[in-house]
Amino acid sequence: MKISCEEAATICNKSQYKEAGFWQVLKLRFHLFTCKTCAKFTKQNQMLSSLCDKANLNVLSESEKENMKKDLEKHL
Ligand SMILES: [Zn+2]
Repeated sequence: MKISCEEAATICNKSQYKEAGFWQVLKLRFHLFTCKTCAKFTKQNQMLSSLCDKANLNVLSESEKENMKKDLEKHL
């Protein structure tokens, strides 16, 4: 489930993002949850942030987000 910051940046990158599969997007979101550096970066980068949020809304249902949170808590 863990990906590097570089991979996260690649997935969250313009055209790459549209081509990213469900699991890649999920891994990206998970990375943004766990990596303060990337979370901060996406907040600073409004375009990138809104792109990710939009995709997140399209890709993840509420229950899936809940599952991600639970999954995250297991790793803490
Ligand atoms: Zn990162």
